[in-house]
Amino acid sequence: MLDDDRVRADTPGCVDGPGPGPVFLDSAGSSLPPRVVTETVIEHLRREAEIGGYRAANERLDDLADVKTAIGALINAEPESIALSDSATRSWADFFYSVPLAAGDRILVSEADYASNAIAALQRARATGATVEKIPSDGSGQIDLDALAALVDERVKLVSVLHAPTNGGLVNPAAEATRIAHSVGALVLLDACQSAGQLPLDVADLGVDALSATGRKWLRGPRGTGFLYLRPELARSMEPARLDLHSAEWTGPQDYRLAPGASRFEFWECDVAARLGLGAAVRYLLELGPEDVYAAIAARAEHLRKALPEIPGVTVRDLGIRHSGIVSFTVDGVDSVAVRDRLLAQDITVTVSHAGSTLLDMTGRGLASVVRASPHCFVGFDELDRFVAAVAALRA
Ligand SMILES: *Cc1c(COP(=O)(O)O)cnc(C)c1O
Repeated sequence: MLDDDRVRADTPGCVDGPGPGPVFLDSAGSSLPPRVVTETVIEHLRREAEIGGYRAANERLDDLADVKTAIGALINAEPESIALSDSATRSWADFFYSVPLAAGDRILVSEADYASNAIAALQRARATGATVEKIPSDGSGQIDLDALAALVDERVKLVSVLHAPTNGGLVNPAAEATRIAHSVGALVLLDACQSAGQLPLDVADLGVDALSATGRKWLRGPRGTGFLYLRPELARSMEPARLDLHSAEWTGPQDYRLAPGASRFEFWECDVAARLGLGAAVRYLLELGPEDVYAAIAARAEHLRKALPEIPGVTVRDLGIRHSGIVSFTVDGVDSVAVRDRLLAQDITVTVSHAGSTLLDMTGRGLASVVRASPHCFVGFDELDRFVAAVAALRA
């Protein structure tokens, strides 16, 4: 069991005391970091100002190396299989743009796929003559595994599996989809942006070739951080689309040599303070106990999924069989943006997910937008109830 009091005390954004404090339900957007993350970042920025960025980084080489060790411990990977970046999209694209594609090749995307992934797939399809096709969903809304099995052939070069979409509580059967993709030799790139930090991620169980995630969402790290995991064989053999003097070594007038592991997918320059902050965030999660954190998130999301449908005119829009910590809903007669803004006026933070972020899914369901409530483990049940009461009052 998580120590709720400790978790709240560690989170400056949580306010306890007389009167209603803020209710923060946007960990799917950009979460509230624990104090140690903010302090780590600020401390490093101060040090850079004192002695310069190079010396400051040199003082923290062990901690910088530990960022990958910590991420590896969280997802069951070796640090050599992890490349750090500045966002999930950067990491996703770093891998995707490095997959060789030719005319006639097929790229499969999930129905719940994220706009940035789909746009990149469409761009490369235009440039190479490959095609982009949607993996159908089953009656529950998750990836239809039978349809996927029927869809794949040896022309499928890459399958983009969206683990937990940005616009609702669906969790796709990533390991099963990966096995099907591998049966025809396709690569699987898993968008774990909304699962990293809130659901168990074990790359050995998942079997994926690559996985991308961001720091600022459920991991509670700083903005401008993200990472890419590559299957060890790929980390050692794949040629990234772009290189610099960190991802490769200039070995002769006509020669270069790739860095030995996944760091071939990194550039030299980075926000060192943010990176250290990401390491602190992952270490904090490991120290709390990821399983306890995941259970706390699930309990809060389930609390909302029970309470919200009891409000007349409120519809929970989550798909799938297994659910994430993202609770999506609409309110009859009240536009999603108005819902967000009226809650914000009461210091309750939720976000709106518009159709453009997950176009295939949202247009398939005829939805222009949904309201997204994403409670992390630091949110109290009393706060959830305040949120539910505020939603109930919207139509009054
Ligand atoms: C937020 C999000 C992304 C993009 O993450 P960035 O760090 O902003 O690049 C990708 N996929 C999903 C499912 C997301 O929710």
